[in-house]
Amino acid sequence: MATVQLKTVKFGGSSLADAAQFQKVRAIIEADPGRRFVVPSAPGKRHAKDTKITDLLYRCQKLAAEGLDFSESLEIIRERYLEIAKSLSIRFDPTEELEKIGAHLKEGATKDYAASRGEYLNGLLLSDYLGFPFVDAAEVVCFNAAGVFQMEETMQKMRKRLSEMECAVIPGFYGAAPDGDIITFSRGGSDITGSLVARAVRAAMYENWTDVSGVLVADPRIVPNAAVINTVTYEELRELSYMGATVLHEDAIFPVRAAGIPINIRNTNDPSAPGTLIVADDSAESDTLTGYTITGIAGKKGFCAINIQKAMMNAELGFCRRVLSVLEENGISFEHMPSGIDTMTLILPEDAIRGKEQTVLSGIRKAVSPDRCEIEHGISLLAVVGRGMRRTRGTAARIFAALAHARINVKMIDQGSSELNIIIGLLDGDFEEAVRRIYDIFITSVTAAETN
Ligand code: ADP
Ligand code: ASP
Ligand code: MG
Repeated sequence: MATVQLKTVKFGGSSLADAAQFQKVRAIIEADPGRRFVVPSAPGKRHAKDTKITDLLYRCQKLAAEGLDFSESLEIIRERYLEIAKSLSIRFDPTEELEKIGAHLKEGATKDYAASRGEYLNGLLLSDYLGFPFVDAAEVVCFNAAGVFQMEETMQKMRKRLSEMECAVIPGFYGAAPDGDIITFSRGGSDITGSLVARAVRAAMYENWTDVSGVLVADPRIVPNAAVINTVTYEELRELSYMGATVLHEDAIFPVRAAGIPINIRNTNDPSAPGTLIVADDSAESDTLTGYTITGIAGKKGFCAINIQKAMMNAELGFCRRVLSVLEENGISFEHMPSGIDTMTLILPEDAIRGKEQTVLSGIRKAVSPDRCEIEHGISLLAVVGRGMRRTRGTAARIFAALAHARINVKMIDQGSSELNIIIGLLDGDFEEAVRRIYDIFITSVTAAETN
Protein backbone atom coordinates (compact mmCIF):
# COMPACT_ATOMS: atom_id res chain seq x y z
CA MET A 1 0.00 0.00 0.00
CA ALA A 2 1.28 3.48 -0.83
CA THR A 3 2.26 5.49 2.24
CA VAL A 4 0.10 8.51 2.94
CA GLN A 5 1.98 11.78 2.78
CA LEU A 6 0.89 14.41 5.26
CA LYS A 7 -0.29 17.56 3.52
CA THR A 8 -1.43 20.98 4.60
CA VAL A 9 -4.08 22.37 2.27
CA LYS A 10 -4.98 26.04 2.01
CA PHE A 11 -8.07 27.14 0.11
CA GLY A 12 -8.35 30.73 -1.13
CA GLY A 13 -11.40 32.97 -1.13
CA SER A 14 -12.74 32.04 -4.53
CA SER A 15 -12.37 28.35 -3.66
CA LEU A 16 -14.81 28.95 -0.78
CA ALA A 17 -17.04 31.60 -2.30
CA ASP A 18 -20.28 29.58 -2.22
CA ALA A 19 -21.76 26.19 -1.36
CA ALA A 20 -20.80 24.62 -4.70
CA GLN A 21 -17.18 25.60 -4.04
CA PHE A 22 -17.33 24.11 -0.52
CA GLN A 23 -18.47 20.85 -2.08
CA LYS A 24 -15.47 20.84 -4.40
CA VAL A 25 -13.22 21.53 -1.43
CA ARG A 26 -14.63 18.61 0.53
CA ALA A 27 -14.23 16.29 -2.46
CA ILE A 28 -10.59 17.35 -2.77
CA ILE A 29 -9.92 16.74 0.93
CA GLU A 30 -11.66 13.38 0.89
CA ALA A 31 -9.76 12.26 -2.20
CA ASP A 32 -6.48 12.09 -0.25
CA PRO A 33 -6.24 10.91 3.37
CA GLY A 34 -3.02 12.93 3.71
CA ARG A 35 -4.98 16.19 3.46
CA ARG A 36 -5.57 16.61 7.17
CA PHE A 37 -4.73 20.19 8.09
CA VAL A 38 -6.91 22.71 6.34
CA VAL A 39 -6.46 26.49 6.20
CA PRO A 40 -9.39 28.46 4.75
CA SER A 41 -9.60 32.08 3.61
CA ALA A 42 -12.81 34.08 3.98
CA PRO A 43 -15.39 33.64 1.21
CA GLY A 44 -14.21 35.58 -1.83
CA LYS A 45 -15.93 36.80 -4.97
CA ARG A 46 -18.53 34.60 -6.65
CA HIS A 47 -18.32 36.72 -9.82
CA ALA A 48 -16.35 39.73 -11.00
CA LYS A 49 -18.72 42.32 -9.49
CA ASP A 50 -19.11 40.59 -6.14
CA THR A 51 -17.51 41.85 -2.89
CA LYS A 52 -15.20 39.73 -0.74
CA ILE A 53 -16.34 39.13 2.85
CA THR A 54 -13.01 40.64 3.96
CA ASP A 55 -13.82 43.89 2.15
CA LEU A 56 -17.32 43.97 3.65
CA LEU A 57 -15.78 43.61 7.10
CA TYR A 58 -13.30 46.43 6.45
CA ARG A 59 -16.28 48.51 5.35
CA CYS A 60 -18.18 47.76 8.59
CA GLN A 61 -15.17 48.78 10.66
CA LYS A 62 -14.73 52.01 8.74
CA LEU A 63 -18.38 52.95 9.16
CA ALA A 64 -18.24 52.04 12.86
CA ALA A 65 -15.14 54.18 13.36
CA GLU A 66 -16.99 57.11 11.81
CA GLY A 67 -19.93 56.49 14.11
CA LEU A 68 -22.13 55.43 11.18
CA ASP A 69 -24.57 52.55 10.83
CA PHE A 70 -22.97 49.38 9.44
CA SER A 71 -25.86 46.99 9.97
CA GLU A 72 -26.60 46.65 6.27
CA SER A 73 -23.12 45.35 5.42
CA LEU A 74 -23.13 43.07 8.47
CA GLU A 75 -26.45 41.63 7.31
CA ILE A 76 -25.02 40.90 3.83
CA ILE A 77 -22.20 39.00 5.56
CA ARG A 78 -24.65 37.05 7.71
CA GLU A 79 -26.74 36.11 4.71
CA ARG A 80 -23.73 34.88 2.77
CA TYR A 81 -22.62 32.50 5.50
CA LEU A 82 -26.18 31.39 6.16
CA GLU A 83 -26.80 30.69 2.50
CA ILE A 84 -23.68 28.53 2.28
CA ALA A 85 -24.57 26.66 5.48
CA LYS A 86 -28.16 26.08 4.39
CA SER A 87 -27.20 24.81 0.94
CA LEU A 88 -24.75 22.43 2.56
CA SER A 89 -27.42 21.30 5.05
CA ILE A 90 -25.33 22.07 8.09
CA ARG A 91 -26.49 23.78 11.24
CA PHE A 92 -23.84 26.51 11.39
CA ASP A 93 -25.44 29.90 12.11
CA PRO A 94 -23.20 32.97 12.32
CA THR A 95 -25.89 35.22 13.84
CA GLU A 96 -24.68 35.14 17.43
CA GLU A 97 -21.02 35.59 16.50
CA LEU A 98 -21.92 38.49 14.21
CA GLU A 99 -23.85 40.16 17.02
CA LYS A 100 -20.71 39.97 19.15
CA ILE A 101 -18.62 41.30 16.26
CA GLY A 102 -21.07 44.18 15.77
CA ALA A 103 -20.89 45.04 19.46
CA HIS A 104 -17.07 45.04 19.38
CA LEU A 105 -17.06 47.27 16.32
CA LYS A 106 -19.26 49.76 18.12
CA GLU A 107 -16.76 49.75 20.97
CA GLY A 108 -13.96 50.71 18.58
CA ALA A 109 -12.54 47.34 17.48
CA THR A 110 -9.56 47.52 15.12
CA LYS A 111 -9.41 46.97 11.36
CA ASP A 112 -7.39 43.81 11.91
CA TYR A 113 -9.98 42.39 14.28
CA ALA A 114 -12.80 43.17 11.83
CA ALA A 115 -11.04 41.66 8.80
CA SER A 116 -9.98 38.52 10.68
CA ARG A 117 -13.59 37.57 11.42
CA GLY A 118 -14.09 36.53 7.79
CA GLU A 119 -11.59 33.70 8.15
CA TYR A 120 -12.71 32.96 11.72
CA LEU A 121 -16.35 32.40 10.73
CA ASN A 122 -15.41 30.53 7.57
CA GLY A 123 -13.14 28.29 9.63
CA LEU A 124 -16.06 27.45 11.94
CA LEU A 125 -18.29 26.77 8.96
CA LEU A 126 -15.75 24.56 7.21
CA SER A 127 -14.93 22.66 10.39
CA ASP A 128 -18.63 21.89 10.81
CA TYR A 129 -18.94 20.80 7.17
CA LEU A 130 -15.84 18.57 7.17
CA GLY A 131 -16.29 17.27 10.71
CA PHE A 132 -12.72 18.39 11.51
CA PRO A 133 -11.98 20.13 14.84
CA PHE A 134 -11.51 23.92 14.77
CA VAL A 135 -8.33 25.55 16.09
CA ASP A 136 -8.52 29.32 16.49
CA ALA A 137 -5.49 30.93 14.82
CA ALA A 138 -5.45 33.48 17.66
CA GLU A 139 -4.16 30.69 19.92
CA VAL A 140 -1.37 29.44 17.67
CA VAL A 141 -0.19 32.33 15.45
CA CYS A 142 1.79 34.77 17.60
CA PHE A 143 2.66 38.43 17.20
CA ASN A 144 4.49 40.59 19.73
CA ALA A 145 2.99 43.69 21.35
CA ALA A 146 4.30 45.82 18.48
CA GLY A 147 2.45 43.62 15.96
CA VAL A 148 5.56 41.84 14.65
CA PHE A 149 5.09 38.18 13.74
CA GLN A 150 6.94 35.74 16.05
CA MET A 151 8.10 32.64 14.21
CA GLU A 152 9.59 30.59 17.04
CA GLU A 153 6.75 31.11 19.44
CA THR A 154 4.27 30.31 16.69
CA MET A 155 6.05 27.08 15.79
CA GLN A 156 6.17 26.00 19.43
CA LYS A 157 2.51 26.69 20.11
CA MET A 158 1.25 25.37 16.81
CA ARG A 159 3.31 22.20 17.02
CA LYS A 160 2.20 21.49 20.55
CA ARG A 161 -1.44 21.98 19.68
CA LEU A 162 -1.56 20.26 16.30
CA SER A 163 0.68 17.32 17.12
CA GLU A 164 -2.08 15.95 19.32
CA MET A 165 -4.62 16.15 16.52
CA GLU A 166 -5.51 13.85 13.66
CA CYS A 167 -6.86 16.70 11.58
CA ALA A 168 -7.93 20.33 12.02
CA VAL A 169 -9.25 23.50 10.39
CA ILE A 170 -7.13 26.55 11.21
CA PRO A 171 -8.40 29.86 9.77
CA GLY A 172 -5.89 31.84 7.74
CA PHE A 173 -4.79 35.48 7.78
CA TYR A 174 -4.62 36.30 11.50
CA GLY A 175 -3.09 35.63 14.88
CA ALA A 176 -2.88 37.48 18.16
CA ALA A 177 -0.56 39.61 20.29
CA PRO A 178 0.20 38.57 23.90
CA ASP A 179 -2.72 40.65 25.22
CA GLY A 180 -5.09 38.80 22.89
CA ASP A 181 -5.45 41.62 20.38
CA ILE A 182 -6.05 40.23 16.91
CA ILE A 183 -3.41 41.05 14.29
CA THR A 184 -3.62 40.14 10.61
CA PHE A 185 -0.93 39.61 8.01
CA SER A 186 -1.16 41.85 4.95
CA ARG A 187 -3.81 41.13 2.30
CA GLY A 188 -3.65 37.62 0.90
CA GLY A 189 -2.01 36.49 4.14
CA SER A 190 -3.86 33.18 4.49
CA ASP A 191 -1.10 31.85 2.22
CA ILE A 192 1.32 32.58 5.08
CA THR A 193 -0.82 30.74 7.64
CA GLY A 194 -0.90 27.72 5.33
CA SER A 195 2.86 27.78 5.11
CA LEU A 196 3.20 28.03 8.91
CA VAL A 197 0.86 25.11 9.49
CA ALA A 198 2.73 23.02 6.89
CA ARG A 199 5.97 23.69 8.73
CA ALA A 200 4.51 23.10 12.19
CA VAL A 201 3.07 19.68 11.31
CA ARG A 202 6.14 18.83 9.18
CA ALA A 203 3.98 18.21 6.15
CA ALA A 204 5.47 16.55 3.10
CA MET A 205 3.68 19.07 0.91
CA TYR A 206 1.92 22.43 1.19
CA GLU A 207 -0.95 22.47 -1.28
CA ASN A 208 -2.28 25.95 -2.04
CA TRP A 209 -5.64 25.65 -3.80
CA THR A 210 -6.81 28.63 -5.83
CA ASP A 211 -8.73 29.50 -8.99
CA VAL A 212 -5.98 29.05 -11.59
CA SER A 213 -4.16 25.88 -12.59
CA GLY A 214 -0.86 27.02 -11.13
CA VAL A 215 1.48 29.94 -11.45
CA LEU A 216 1.13 31.16 -14.99
CA VAL A 217 3.95 32.59 -17.07
CA ALA A 218 2.08 35.91 -17.09
CA ASP A 219 -0.93 37.44 -15.37
CA PRO A 220 -3.96 35.82 -17.03
CA ARG A 221 -5.75 39.16 -16.96
CA ILE A 222 -3.10 40.47 -19.38
CA VAL A 223 -2.29 37.32 -21.34
CA PRO A 224 -5.41 35.14 -21.57
CA ASN A 225 -4.58 31.42 -21.62
CA ALA A 226 -1.05 32.03 -20.42
CA ALA A 227 0.97 28.81 -20.07
CA VAL A 228 1.31 27.16 -16.66
CA ILE A 229 4.77 27.01 -15.09
CA ASN A 230 5.42 23.38 -14.11
CA THR A 231 8.23 23.97 -11.65
CA VAL A 232 9.49 27.20 -10.23
CA THR A 233 12.12 27.73 -7.56
CA TYR A 234 11.36 29.56 -4.31
CA GLU A 235 13.67 32.38 -5.43
CA GLU A 236 11.96 32.80 -8.79
CA LEU A 237 8.52 32.78 -7.25
CA ARG A 238 9.55 35.31 -4.66
CA GLU A 239 10.71 37.62 -7.45
CA LEU A 240 7.49 37.05 -9.36
CA SER A 241 5.18 37.50 -6.40
CA TYR A 242 7.04 40.56 -5.16
CA MET A 243 6.58 42.04 -8.61
CA GLY A 244 2.86 41.43 -8.75
CA ALA A 245 2.14 37.78 -9.55
CA THR A 246 -0.32 37.79 -6.69
CA VAL A 247 -1.12 34.12 -6.90
CA LEU A 248 0.89 33.48 -3.71
CA HIS A 249 1.70 35.98 -0.94
CA GLU A 250 5.39 36.84 -1.22
CA ASP A 251 6.04 36.03 2.47
CA ALA A 252 4.44 32.60 2.26
CA ILE A 253 7.66 31.16 0.92
CA PHE A 254 9.98 31.62 3.93
CA PRO A 255 8.45 29.20 6.47
CA VAL A 256 8.34 26.23 4.12
CA ARG A 257 11.56 26.99 2.30
CA ALA A 258 13.50 26.76 5.55
CA ALA A 259 11.99 23.33 6.16
CA GLY A 260 12.39 22.10 2.57
CA ILE A 261 8.65 21.58 2.10
CA PRO A 262 7.57 22.03 -1.53
CA ILE A 263 4.49 24.09 -2.37
CA ASN A 264 2.02 22.88 -4.95
CA ILE A 265 -0.32 25.52 -6.40
CA ARG A 266 -3.55 23.76 -7.50
CA ASN A 267 -6.88 24.66 -9.03
CA THR A 268 -10.00 23.89 -6.97
CA ASN A 269 -12.01 24.06 -10.20
CA ASP A 270 -9.74 21.61 -12.01
CA PRO A 271 -8.32 19.25 -9.37
CA SER A 272 -6.85 16.83 -11.89
CA ALA A 273 -4.43 19.49 -13.22
CA PRO A 274 -0.99 18.99 -11.66
CA GLY A 275 -0.52 22.72 -11.03
CA THR A 276 2.83 24.31 -10.23
CA LEU A 277 5.46 22.82 -7.96
CA ILE A 278 7.62 25.30 -6.05
CA VAL A 279 10.94 23.78 -5.06
CA ALA A 280 14.45 24.59 -3.86
CA ASP A 281 16.99 25.73 -6.41
CA ASP A 282 19.24 22.74 -5.74
CA SER A 283 16.52 20.10 -5.77
CA ALA A 284 16.18 17.47 -8.48
CA GLU A 285 12.85 18.94 -9.57
CA SER A 286 14.41 22.34 -10.21
CA ASP A 287 16.36 20.79 -13.06
CA THR A 288 13.11 20.27 -14.89
CA LEU A 289 13.20 23.52 -16.71
CA THR A 290 10.06 24.90 -18.22
CA GLY A 291 11.21 24.37 -21.77
CA TYR A 292 11.42 28.12 -22.16
CA THR A 293 14.31 30.45 -21.40
CA ILE A 294 12.26 32.46 -19.00
CA THR A 295 10.07 31.19 -16.20
CA GLY A 296 7.69 34.09 -15.77
CA ILE A 297 6.84 37.73 -16.32
CA ALA A 298 5.29 39.96 -13.66
CA GLY A 299 5.02 43.64 -13.05
CA LYS A 300 3.41 46.51 -11.23
CA LYS A 301 2.26 50.00 -11.98
CA GLY A 302 2.41 52.88 -9.53
CA PHE A 303 6.06 53.93 -9.50
CA CYS A 304 7.81 57.23 -10.11
CA ALA A 305 11.37 58.14 -11.03
CA ILE A 306 13.47 60.92 -9.56
CA ASN A 307 15.99 61.84 -12.25
CA ILE A 308 19.10 63.60 -11.02
CA GLN A 309 21.72 65.06 -13.36
CA LYS A 310 25.03 66.65 -12.48
CA ALA A 311 28.21 66.88 -14.51
CA MET A 312 30.95 64.67 -13.04
CA MET A 313 28.71 63.37 -10.27
CA ASN A 314 30.59 60.10 -10.08
CA ALA A 315 33.78 61.90 -9.13
CA GLU A 316 32.06 63.56 -6.21
CA LEU A 317 32.70 61.55 -3.08
CA GLY A 318 29.53 60.72 -1.08
CA PHE A 319 27.12 61.97 -3.78
CA CYS A 320 24.99 58.88 -3.71
CA ARG A 321 24.98 58.67 0.07
CA ARG A 322 23.81 62.26 0.39
CA VAL A 323 20.94 61.69 -2.04
CA LEU A 324 19.89 58.52 -0.25
CA SER A 325 20.06 60.18 3.14
CA VAL A 326 17.33 62.57 1.95
CA LEU A 327 15.12 59.56 1.27
CA GLU A 328 16.02 58.07 4.63
CA GLU A 329 15.18 61.29 6.46
CA ASN A 330 11.77 61.17 4.82
CA GLY A 331 11.22 57.51 5.66
CA ILE A 332 11.23 56.41 2.01
CA SER A 333 12.84 53.29 0.61
CA PHE A 334 13.54 52.92 -3.11
CA GLU A 335 13.17 50.01 -5.49
CA HIS A 336 15.97 50.62 -8.01
CA MET A 337 18.79 53.02 -8.59
CA PRO A 338 20.13 52.88 -12.14
CA SER A 339 22.98 55.31 -12.73
CA GLY A 340 25.25 56.72 -15.41
CA ILE A 341 28.37 58.87 -15.27
CA ASP A 342 26.47 62.11 -14.83
CA THR A 343 22.99 60.83 -14.01
CA MET A 344 21.28 58.83 -11.40
CA THR A 345 17.67 57.74 -11.13
CA LEU A 346 15.74 56.58 -8.14
CA ILE A 347 12.69 54.47 -8.79
CA LEU A 348 10.24 54.40 -5.93
CA PRO A 349 6.59 53.61 -5.27
CA GLU A 350 4.25 56.59 -5.75
CA ASP A 351 2.66 55.76 -2.40
CA ALA A 352 5.96 56.25 -0.62
CA ILE A 353 6.50 59.80 -1.82
CA ARG A 354 2.92 61.08 -1.91
CA GLY A 355 2.68 64.32 0.05
CA LYS A 356 6.48 64.53 0.45
CA GLU A 357 7.44 65.31 -3.13
CA GLN A 358 8.54 68.91 -2.69
CA THR A 359 10.38 68.21 0.58
CA VAL A 360 12.31 65.39 -1.09
CA LEU A 361 13.18 67.36 -4.24
CA SER A 362 14.33 70.42 -2.31
CA GLY A 363 16.22 68.15 0.10
CA ILE A 364 18.11 66.60 -2.83
CA ARG A 365 18.81 70.03 -4.35
CA LYS A 366 20.22 71.20 -1.05
CA ALA A 367 22.25 68.05 -0.46
CA VAL A 368 24.02 67.72 -3.84
CA SER A 369 23.28 70.90 -5.90
CA PRO A 370 22.35 68.97 -9.07
CA ASP A 371 22.19 70.57 -12.53
CA ARG A 372 18.73 69.06 -12.85
CA CYS A 373 16.43 67.19 -10.53
CA GLU A 374 12.92 66.25 -11.52
CA ILE A 375 10.28 63.67 -10.85
CA GLU A 376 8.54 61.61 -13.48
CA HIS A 377 5.23 59.89 -12.68
CA GLY A 378 3.39 56.97 -14.21
CA ILE A 379 6.19 54.40 -14.27
CA SER A 380 5.66 50.63 -14.31
CA LEU A 381 8.20 47.99 -13.45
CA LEU A 382 8.23 44.70 -15.26
CA ALA A 383 10.29 41.70 -14.17
CA VAL A 384 11.35 38.92 -16.49
CA VAL A 385 12.38 36.05 -14.23
CA GLY A 386 14.04 32.74 -15.00
CA ARG A 387 16.73 30.41 -13.70
CA GLY A 388 17.32 29.48 -17.33
CA MET A 389 18.67 32.95 -18.12
CA ARG A 390 21.98 32.17 -16.43
CA ARG A 391 22.84 29.63 -19.08
CA THR A 392 21.31 31.35 -22.06
CA ARG A 393 22.90 34.17 -23.97
CA GLY A 394 21.10 37.03 -25.56
CA THR A 395 18.00 37.06 -23.34
CA ALA A 396 18.21 40.81 -22.74
CA ALA A 397 18.77 41.41 -26.44
CA ARG A 398 15.65 39.44 -27.32
CA ILE A 399 13.58 41.37 -24.78
CA PHE A 400 14.72 44.75 -26.00
CA ALA A 401 14.37 43.83 -29.65
CA ALA A 402 10.76 42.81 -28.97
CA LEU A 403 10.04 46.05 -27.13
CA ALA A 404 11.78 48.19 -29.73
CA HIS A 405 9.80 46.47 -32.44
CA ALA A 406 6.60 47.48 -30.64
CA ARG A 407 7.96 51.05 -30.29
CA ILE A 408 7.93 50.77 -26.52
CA ASN A 409 10.25 53.19 -24.79
CA VAL A 410 12.38 51.55 -22.08
CA LYS A 411 13.06 53.89 -19.17
CA MET A 412 15.32 51.65 -17.14
CA ILE A 413 17.02 48.27 -17.20
CA ASP A 414 18.36 46.49 -14.17
CA GLN A 415 19.72 42.97 -14.18
CA GLY A 416 20.05 41.39 -10.74
CA SER A 417 23.49 40.04 -9.89
CA SER A 418 22.02 36.55 -9.55
CA GLU A 419 21.05 36.70 -13.24
CA LEU A 420 17.66 35.47 -12.14
CA ASN A 421 15.79 38.50 -13.35
CA ILE A 422 15.80 41.50 -15.61
CA ILE A 423 13.79 44.48 -14.41
CA ILE A 424 12.51 46.96 -16.95
CA GLY A 425 11.06 50.40 -16.25
CA LEU A 426 8.34 51.55 -18.67
CA LEU A 427 5.56 54.09 -18.94
CA ASP A 428 2.25 52.86 -17.49
CA GLY A 429 0.57 53.11 -20.88
CA ASP A 430 3.02 50.58 -22.37
CA PHE A 431 2.85 48.05 -19.56
CA GLU A 432 0.29 45.51 -20.82
CA GLU A 433 1.62 45.57 -24.36
CA ALA A 434 5.16 45.02 -23.09
CA VAL A 435 4.05 41.96 -21.10
CA ARG A 436 2.32 40.54 -24.18
CA ARG A 437 5.32 41.20 -26.45
CA ILE A 438 7.75 39.52 -24.07
CA TYR A 439 5.35 36.61 -23.62
CA ASP A 440 5.10 36.20 -27.38
CA ILE A 441 8.81 36.23 -27.98
CA PHE A 442 9.64 33.63 -25.31
CA ILE A 443 6.53 31.49 -25.16
CA THR A 444 4.20 31.82 -28.15
CA SER A 445 6.92 31.76 -30.78
CA VAL A 446 8.70 28.83 -29.08
CA THR A 447 5.49 26.81 -28.78
CA ALA A 448 4.62 27.58 -32.40
CA ALA A 449 8.08 26.47 -33.55
CA GLU A 450 7.70 23.20 -31.63
CA THR A 451 4.35 22.36 -33.15
CA ASN A 452 5.47 23.20 -36.69
P1 ADP B 1 -6.89 33.08 -3.65
O1 ADP B 1 -8.16 33.77 -3.34
O2 ADP B 1 -7.09 31.63 -3.99
O3 ADP B 1 -5.83 33.29 -2.63
P2 ADP B 1 -5.71 35.06 -5.39
O4 ADP B 1 -6.75 35.92 -6.01
O5 ADP B 1 -4.99 35.59 -4.22
O6 ADP B 1 -6.40 33.66 -5.04
O7 ADP B 1 -4.65 34.60 -6.47
C1 ADP B 1 -5.05 33.98 -7.67
C2 ADP B 1 -5.14 35.02 -8.77
O8 ADP B 1 -3.85 35.56 -9.01
C3 ADP B 1 -5.56 34.48 -10.10
O9 ADP B 1 -6.97 34.39 -10.22
C4 ADP B 1 -4.97 35.49 -11.07
O10 ADP B 1 -5.93 36.43 -11.49
C5 ADP B 1 -3.90 36.22 -10.27
N1 ADP B 1 -2.57 36.18 -10.90
C6 ADP B 1 -1.77 37.24 -11.16
N2 ADP B 1 -0.63 36.86 -11.73
C7 ADP B 1 -0.70 35.52 -11.86
C8 ADP B 1 0.18 34.52 -12.38
N3 ADP B 1 1.36 34.85 -12.90
N4 ADP B 1 -0.21 33.25 -12.34
C9 ADP B 1 -1.40 32.90 -11.81
N5 ADP B 1 -2.27 33.79 -11.30
C10 ADP B 1 -1.94 35.08 -11.33
N1 ASP C 1 -9.22 37.27 3.21
C1 ASP C 1 -7.96 37.97 3.22
C2 ASP C 1 -7.85 38.88 2.02
O1 ASP C 1 -8.81 39.04 1.28
C3 ASP C 1 -6.78 37.04 3.32
C4 ASP C 1 -6.65 36.03 2.22
O2 ASP C 1 -7.57 35.82 1.44
O3 ASP C 1 -5.59 35.41 2.14
O4 ASP C 1 -6.85 39.51 1.82
MG1 MG D 1 -4.48 34.85 -2.35
